[in-house]
Amino acid sequence: MERSFLSDRAPGPVLLSHGDIRKRVLEMGREITRDYEGRAPHLIGVLKGGIIFHADLVRAIDLDVSFDFIALGSYGLTTRTSGEVRLLKDLDASPEGRDVIIVEDIVDTGLTLDYLLQFLRTREPASLKVAALLDKPSRRQREVPIDYLGFEIDDRFVVGYGLDYVQHYRNLPDLHLLGN
Ligand code: 5GP
Repeated sequence: MERSFLSDRAPGPVLLSHGDIRKRVLEMGREITRDYEGRAPHLIGVLKGGIIFHADLVRAIDLDVSFDFIALGSYGLTTRTSGEVRLLKDLDASPEGRDVIIVEDIVDTGLTLDYLLQFLRTREPASLKVAALLDKPSRRQREVPIDYLGFEIDDRFVVGYGLDYVQHYRNLPDLHLLGN
């Protein structure tokens, strides 16, 4: 895709192809299916970036899953976090007593996931785990657990497969580095 006429930056080279991601997400789904045998995990997707990953991951799990969505904000109009996490949309249903798996697109500083873990613990799920597609460990400010991880990447800003640059490029099937 070329640069959107509404954006000052274009998608750059592909970092992970849709095929690479698909293969890894299927493996993660198999792992979750094994770990949660006989249970019905409740997968909470983090809007908006995690939506494509969530949609692919739930279909890779061969169990009676249910899901919900929550929206948090930390990024403004730039590629760096503001350090402040805000709840933009609460869950539709209580996760109390459920085997919850948080589905995040990317863990960067860890501030968002840290906030979300604290928030969900107060709602008393039976168990609480994290599935993240991407991890940028070099920028971590909070120690956070990632139980199911797709890929570890360097500190580069990425777009596609649900991830945006100022709301652009979420629909790209592959994951790209952000270009000029
Ligand atoms: P954290 O709170 O861990 O710093 O940031 C988590 C959120 O920041 C992610 O859910 C994602 O929305 C956004 N983010 C972090 N790194 C990137 C990136 O490389 N690309 C995009 N599009 N969003 C990112």
